[in-house]
Amino acid sequence: MMDLRSDTVTRPTPAMREAMVHAAVGDDVWGDDPTVLELQNSLARSAGKEAGLFLPSGTQSNLAALMAHCERGDEYIVGQLAHTYKYEGGGAAVLGSIVPQPLENEDDGSLPLEKITGAIKRHGPGLGAHFARTKLLALENTFNGQVVPRDYLKAATELAHHRGLATHLDGARVFNAVVAQGITLAEACDGFDSVSICLSKGLGAPVGSVLVGSQELIERAYRWRKVLGGGMRQSGILAAAGLYALEHHINRLADDHANATFLATELTQIPQVTVLGHATNMVFATFPEEDCAPLQAALAERGMLALITPESRFVTHLDVNSEGITLFINAIKEYFA
Ligand SMILES: *Cc1c(COP(=O)(O)O)cnc(C)c1O
Repeated sequence: MMDLRSDTVTRPTPAMREAMVHAAVGDDVWGDDPTVLELQNSLARSAGKEAGLFLPSGTQSNLAALMAHCERGDEYIVGQLAHTYKYEGGGAAVLGSIVPQPLENEDDGSLPLEKITGAIKRHGPGLGAHFARTKLLALENTFNGQVVPRDYLKAATELAHHRGLATHLDGARVFNAVVAQGITLAEACDGFDSVSICLSKGLGAPVGSVLVGSQELIERAYRWRKVLGGGMRQSGILAAAGLYALEHHINRLADDHANATFLATELTQIPQVTVLGHATNMVFATFPEEDCAPLQAALAERGMLALITPESRFVTHLDVNSEGITLFINAIKEYFA
């Protein structure tokens, strides 16, 4: 069985399950689950931030962060294609009363600096009551697998701070950027007042995200997590999987990147397929419309799950290896033959 639909499909390894079984636990709503505290502190430390907060999902982590930065009637600037804007059910507006100001993403995931500047609402005599108060710039890295350039992140966060805005990074896959660029997590988080990091994607934990930031910000996010229903009890069992992943599954992300490159190279050899690009652990390709459904079914019959569409995305992860990719390529070739 191989599943290229997403890196969220990873299953906890036997060793990870073992770590979960033996986790010391307490009641995290009372603040005394030692494994949760260890995970939060360890990730905060390596991100170069004061504090961390363990949440059940990346969506909740982003939302708690936005609500910690912004109050009712405040505004955040965000990419039109950003997860926090497009793929989280509009939670910032629905649950946070926060006004989104979306801007068109460039292909590399960046938001042009002059557009950010132009979107910041003016305040002052006679203007203050008209506009939402622009409070936050939210960026994403990696963005569709792509590592957002470091000099851009530096310039954008400096611009935001200069204009009095806070900065949030949706770093669901920030470790893919860390490994691809050979930098530290602290370097990848530099310039951001908060960063949300998923443990349940390429890192292979079953659930969970950690939000890192200043002590003060995390205290506000802690309150919102409870309000949003994310206060968990003996969650050390889950945090143990995260700690295990941080220790054992970061450097191996390089294998996922190599496997994605291998997959892209092999797909290029198939005349009916056009590879649109690949970055870190993702490959994008188009297939002829009429072949999509039958090819997807033929692959599924062989235990290979992938979404075959005119805009396919394949994602490599912990449970995909190069032998599996070779079988996948052979199955596609066979179908077209
Ligand atoms: C997966 C993901 C999230 C969070 O997703 P959950 O499924 O809620 O954990 C946030 N941002 C990005 C970019 C993601 O890929």
